[in-house]
Amino acid sequence: MNRPVPLSRRALLSSALSLGALAVLPPARAHIKAKLVVIGGGFGGASAAQHLRTLLPDAEITLVEPNPIYTACPFSNLVISGTRTLSQQQFGYESLRARGITLAHDRAVAVDTSKRHVRLQSGHTLAYDRLILSPGIDIRWNQISGYDQAAAEHMPHAWKAGGQTELLRAQLTAMPEGGLVVMSVPPAPYRCPPGPYERASLIAHYLKTHKPRSKLLILDAKDSFSKQSLFQAAWAEHYPHHIEWRSATEDGRVARIDAATRTVWTDFESYQADVVNIIPPQKAGQIADLAGVSDATGWCPIDPVSFESTRVPGIHVIGDATLAAPMPKSAFSANLQAKICAHAIASLLSERAPEPTILTNTCYSYTTPETAVSITGVYTSQDHQLRSVAGAGGVSPLAAEVGVRRTEAAEAAAWFQTITQDAFG
Ligand code: FAD
Repeated sequence: MNRPVPLSRRALLSSALSLGALAVLPPARAHIKAKLVVIGGGFGGASAAQHLRTLLPDAEITLVEPNPIYTACPFSNLVISGTRTLSQQQFGYESLRARGITLAHDRAVAVDTSKRHVRLQSGHTLAYDRLILSPGIDIRWNQISGYDQAAAEHMPHAWKAGGQTELLRAQLTAMPEGGLVVMSVPPAPYRCPPGPYERASLIAHYLKTHKPRSKLLILDAKDSFSKQSLFQAAWAEHYPHHIEWRSATEDGRVARIDAATRTVWTDFESYQADVVNIIPPQKAGQIADLAGVSDATGWCPIDPVSFESTRVPGIHVIGDATLAAPMPKSAFSANLQAKICAHAIASLLSERAPEPTILTNTCYSYTTPETAVSITGVYTSQDHQLRSVAGAGGVSPLAAEVGVRRTEAAEAAAWFQTITQDAFG
């Protein structure tokens, strides 16, 4: 559904924010001395620890995260295209520590669900009354034949931000004028549905401005994608000679790669490229398997009111690791799910049933470094599942003046600042 921008966008966003706020209105702060452990210090986990601290001032809260610095994926496509630095993507945990959250810079390697404790790589164990898992994604190595950890050093995925982001950027800057970039996009579900097409837009922008005889070929395992008409209109306007998209039915699915020669094979063709960005199939982070909360899909089924696992009581799962469709795997979703989950835990510890609520998500995507488009969804829980609310949400209008797209880019920047402040500030 299209909607006018910017006026109703602002109205919609403010209503989305108030719905988000409604969802997280705290019960009377509960003075309960529970032991709460959160695994994963990304958008979901850091936000959950912060909101548990607010709701449960007397609880012992431990956040387990191996990295002392978190590197955010949203906006990392702007690092790849050279309009942002990686340091602008990085956040520490000082504010969480200052609020009395214990940081364990360690990796969770096992969960004993009967004794309710988490074992860390260092050998320490942490007892919990309630455990939140927000481990993000793991890559399904070798699902594309030949694509393993070693191959990713030659054909970066850059789907976890950090060294991989810098590697893809370095390969683009080193490639010759007139060269070919190939991007492979996996079948759904995966982290950030519109992310590959934002990346394609920004890589094409880099090629157009620095290596104008070069080209990006997108090989897709799907036949349609998020905000497709908006992206394709932007590509026709800005990058008519720089992007080609091949859908699954047009032989777009990549089956095999050879990292040494930077060659990819679809069912019928092979392509030898100067830069190959494989965005591989994904699953929930491995600790979800070890805790027994993932199912045969590789993702974690949850109760949509409390985000408690439907497989293991006492463990809640939020963020990318969940099976929460139609809500997408986004930082926006992870942050809101964290608040709802913290609120549900506060209720459960006070022996009250968590209340169902309304959830929202907005994903912005840059089509050039100065312009963006967006999609908003509104969701409610029905019959133990999340469902889209008919008639709510929508996408940016297809025909819009450049000022509208610039306003959306400014809104995107404000969103990034707000969400990173909420999680890490
Ligand atoms: P993460 O943020 O990945 O955090 C998981 C954390 O868990 C990591 O820090 C990891 O170190 C830790 N961890 C994993 N296993 C363990 C363990 N065993 N023990 C301890 N810690 C562990 N979203 C948006 O909303 N808007 C955007 O514009 C946007 N753009 C994106 C662009 C790109 C290129 C990509 C790749 C993603 C984008 N996203 C965007 C999606 C967003 O990054 C994710 O949805 C979000 O990070 C999910 O949060 P999370 O907490 O589930 O996982």
